[in-house]
Amino acid sequence: MQTPSSILDRFTCVRARMAAAAIAASRAPEEVTLIAVSKQQQEEEILAALGLGQRIYGENRVREAMARWQPKREAFPDLRLHLIGPLQSNKALEAVRLFDVIESLDRPKLARVLADAVEKAGRTPNILVQVNTGEEPQKAGILPLEADAFLQDLPRIYGIAPAGLMCIPPQGENPAAHFALLAKIAARNGLTQLSMGMSEDFEIAIRFGAHCVRVGSALFGPRQA
Ligand SMILES: *Cc1c(COP(=O)(O)O)cnc(C)c1O
Repeated sequence: MQTPSSILDRFTCVRARMAAAAIAASRAPEEVTLIAVSKQQQEEEILAALGLGQRIYGENRVREAMARWQPKREAFPDLRLHLIGPLQSNKALEAVRLFDVIESLDRPKLARVLADAVEKAGRTPNILVQVNTGEEPQKAGILPLEADAFLQDLPRIYGIAPAGLMCIPPQGENPAAHFALLAKIAARNGLTQLSMGMSEDFEIAIRFGAHCVRVGSALFGPRQA
C-alpha cells in the first residue's frame, strides 16, 4: 500500500506532465481531462485519490465498477465514471445506469442494445466509439475502414450521437501513428472528443490532440492481479 502522500506526489507529477505536454503542443492544459483508471486498485488508493479531489475514474468491468462505485455515489455526487473496457450486451443496462461515459461502443449489435438500454434506464451516458487502430484480432474496436459507415449509422439507425473516439494502440508499437489515425477519423466525422493515452504514452497522445487521457499505474502503482 502507498501512503496518501505518495498518491499526492503521483497525481501532482502526472498533472504537471499533462500540462507541460499541452503547452508544448500549443494547447490549453484545461482542454485535457485526467481519467484516473481505478480498475484492480486497492480501496485505500481510491479513497486517497477521492480525498485529493479526483472525481473522474475509469473502470473496465461493469460488475467490479458497480461494487466499488455504487456505494460512493451519494457521498460524491460529482463523480464521473467512464467505462473503458469491452461491453457485453447482457451488461448494457447496468452499464447505462452506472456510467457517465461509455467509451467502448464498437459494433452494431451493441449499438442496438445500448439504444434500448438508454430508453429503459431513462439515462443517456456520453458515448465514444472504440476504434481498433492496430487491427488486432484479439482487441475490441471497430476496424478503421468500417469506422466512417458505423459512425454515420449511429444517429441514423440507432439514435445515438457519439461524442468522440477511443483507441488503445498495440503494445510495443510506436503509438503516434495510432493517435494520428484516431484524430483523422474523428476530424472527418465531425467528432471532437478523443480518449487516448495511458501511463506510458499520455504525453504523446496530448501532442496528437487527446481530450481525455486514461492513466492507471502512473497514479496508483501496479495493479493487483
Ligand atoms: C487499464 C487501462 C488503462 C490504464 O493503463 P495504465 O497503463 O495503467 O495507465 C487505460 N485504458 C484502458 C482501456 C485500460 O484498460
